[in-house]
Amino acid sequence: MKQKKVYLFPEGTKEQKYLLGGKGANLAEMTNAGLPVPFGFTITTESCLDYYRDGEVLSTDLLDQVYVALDELEQLSSKQFGSNVNPLLVSVRSGSVFSMPGMMDTILNLGLNDQTVVGLANLTQNPRFAYDSYRRFIQMFSNVVLGMDHYFFEEVIDEIKEKRGFTEDTELGAEDWQQVIQRYLKMVEAKTNSPFPQDPKIQLSQAIEAVFRSWNNTRAKIYRKINKIPDDLGTAVNIQLMVFGNLGDDSGTGVAFTRNPSTGERELYGEFLINAQGEDVVAGVRTPNPISDLKNQMPSIYKQFVELSSLLEEHYGDMQDIEFTVERGKLYILQTRSGKRTAQAAVKIAVDLVDEGKIKKEEALLRIDPDQMDQMLHPRIDPNVTLKVIAKGLPASPGAASGNIIFDADEAERLTEKGEKVVLVRPETTPEDIHGILAAQGILTSRGGMTSHAAVVARGMGKACICGCDQLKIDLRAETVTIGDLTLQKGDQITIDGSTGQIIQGNVPLIDPNLSLEFEQLLKWADEVRRLEVRANADNPTDATKAREFGAEGIGLCRTEHMFMEADRIPIVQQMILAENEEEQKDALAKLLPMQKEDFKGIFSAMNGLPVNIRLLDPPLHEFLPNMEELVVELTKMQVEKVNPQQYVAKEALLKKVRALHEFNPMLGHRGCRLGMTHPEIYEMQVEALFLAVIESKKAGITVIPEVMIPLVGHVQELKALRRMVINVGERIQQETRESFEYTIGTMIEVPRAALTAEEIAEQADFFSFGTNDLTQTTFGFSRDDAEGKFLHTYVEQKVLPENPFIVLDQAGVGSLIKMATVAGRRKKQGLKTGVCGEHGGEKSSIQFFHDTGLDYVSCSPFRVPIARLAAAHAELNNSVKKN
Ligand code: PEP
Ligand code: MG
Repeated sequence: MKQKKVYLFPEGTKEQKYLLGGKGANLAEMTNAGLPVPFGFTITTESCLDYYRDGEVLSTDLLDQVYVALDELEQLSSKQFGSNVNPLLVSVRSGSVFSMPGMMDTILNLGLNDQTVVGLANLTQNPRFAYDSYRRFIQMFSNVVLGMDHYFFEEVIDEIKEKRGFTEDTELGAEDWQQVIQRYLKMVEAKTNSPFPQDPKIQLSQAIEAVFRSWNNTRAKIYRKINKIPDDLGTAVNIQLMVFGNLGDDSGTGVAFTRNPSTGERELYGEFLINAQGEDVVAGVRTPNPISDLKNQMPSIYKQFVELSSLLEEHYGDMQDIEFTVERGKLYILQTRSGKRTAQAAVKIAVDLVDEGKIKKEEALLRIDPDQMDQMLHPRIDPNVTLKVIAKGLPASPGAASGNIIFDADEAERLTEKGEKVVLVRPETTPEDIHGILAAQGILTSRGGMTSHAAVVARGMGKACICGCDQLKIDLRAETVTIGDLTLQKGDQITIDGSTGQIIQGNVPLIDPNLSLEFEQLLKWADEVRRLEVRANADNPTDATKAREFGAEGIGLCRTEHMFMEADRIPIVQQMILAENEEEQKDALAKLLPMQKEDFKGIFSAMNGLPVNIRLLDPPLHEFLPNMEELVVELTKMQVEKVNPQQYVAKEALLKKVRALHEFNPMLGHRGCRLGMTHPEIYEMQVEALFLAVIESKKAGITVIPEVMIPLVGHVQELKALRRMVINVGERIQQETRESFEYTIGTMIEVPRAALTAEEIAEQADFFSFGTNDLTQTTFGFSRDDAEGKFLHTYVEQKVLPENPFIVLDQAGVGSLIKMATVAGRRKKQGLKTGVCGEHGGEKSSIQFFHDTGLDYVSCSPFRVPIARLAAAHAELNNSVKKN
């Protein structure tokens, strides 16, 4: 039996991807689903392989089958190939098994020649269009099939434009194009020693051959190598009827989404133009009409389109972006694909599709990328406002921010303290600018990429940031920024949208993030699926309340030092540090204790019924004292100005203390539990405040589940001593108050030694919380501020590291330690509770790793809690997909 080499669209199925190529199989599927796809047929990939096997000639058998299919096409369309009255024109496209975009140019309008072009002109009543199409066809065909460079053709057009005094192609009329065509035909003949083929059948066979040949062009071979696509698959060829939307007022063309791509609302959303080609809609030459107008202008077409679009959506189970053409009252679907959409629309559509019974909950969850959710959890620009966009940079950290332009980090901090909103604008940022970044609403830089210091720090802080906007000419001395003709001064207002990279002049109203009903619904489904618990890092009642609103199931890290940093407390903390004797120190601690107690009560109340993990003081004490250089400057000034000697002596004593506390490597210095060991009185005060807060909260009817966490433990003896201390304080308070309460004591695992000796450490710990920020620093031996400011972006750019390991967990290194410590800890203590409280706790690929490692929870900043809930559900679903 003869091998079947050509399949009419209805003869194929979507399973025949290897035989018909991806495009051919999809065209077959759409045709069989009852869609009015322009007729056509597919030449099999096997025929391509035959072509090579036979010494690069098309077999007569193949051509016979093509002509039979062509006859069918003529009959179905009532058009004839080569007719100068009603010409059949086709497109010829390659179509390999795996998409290989750009492998070969498409040839459109094949079938045009000196005669059929007249037919097309009469048919369309648009000679300009007909001749323009013909000259495009000659150019495409000559390039793809005959191997002629586009350049020769462009030259001809330029010459004729110049002669006519035109600057744009659109100014050329039908006669001009006829002239171009004459020149083209002569040129092709001269260059190829043979006239441009006028016989449509010859055009077709040559085009088929060119597509086959393109399988082995250099571009395609390299593409296959890079993408690991086998060389022996061959390409199919799709030959499809051209349809025209510009044949009169009963024709037209348009693009429509089956749902609103901005909001996700279930409504047909799109545009169309009567008597136009696809290009006209895209090019913006004419203003298209909303698709709803089609209802009045072509009621039956509109009805058919509405039916078809819901059929397509049903068939593919997702919102579709559909291109269509109406030719003389007949609707054709040219293309359908899943439509691009905003994060908000993505969530609404996924949830609605579940409610409509079209997809399963699990499918809805997997369709939403947790990273995309980020967009919805930051302030956004009010979509109803018209924007004056002045430049565009890299969207480095999502969210929008408005404020006055400030060029200096110190000034940004000073003005923010005064209540001003500022956007820090710098060529780039360094670790010295950190206070300015912290203070500013958003950050904008003219240099640096997505892993530059500004980008990394801003993302870590959840602040809007645009980087690498090289259109900005920043003059730090004059304090101006120039974009083209526009110069903005310090203090001028701008708005940045870190999700899109748009820089907007002026102050734009922003909308606060909140969870839409659909988002809440989706997250509830995520909660049903996920195994990992999700907690939040929060150190005040406001953040704790926000975290709970976003679904946090407790607090995984309360950094108590933030409570010491508040303006009214710093003097007391300094008094505690600078105390000359025990009395003075006790006095300061006694003042701090009730403040700390109230903080804890606020958080317990916000987290009523949920666990709250309180970490004892972590940073080195010098962080609470003034900067050494500034003090030296002040003292010199005082000397010159001969101020009161008493004041001078006090300042001098302060400098002495600051000098004494100075550290060469603060990150590896006197901090964490090392402070607790040398200054037990501070930890004791914190623990006392904590337990008193527990008692008072319980009395107020609040359910408290306190966890005391010791930071930076590296040796079991540190934990043993501090555990004893906590227990002693607990027993004393219980005795003094005659109240009882429960609590647990655990440790952070943030230095490799702790991970390596986890079995020993577990003996003294009720839980392990992996501090992956410090664990990354200590495992790599990188100081984060130095690494991110100086060399990490080079590492990522040169692919030494795949990602910034402070954002995406380094599974091979840091991850191994986590795995090892979890196994060892649980070996010693069955059911040992384990979690993560570093920033990785809110990052999707790291969450997958924590899930796979069997940790109990992740903890992340409040605004990442929804992302972590969804990512934790993905982790579970991804694994069940793998298992099946
Ligand atoms: C950590 O090291 O991961 C951690 C959570 O602690 P911090 O970031 O406060 O050092
Ligand atoms: Mg830490």
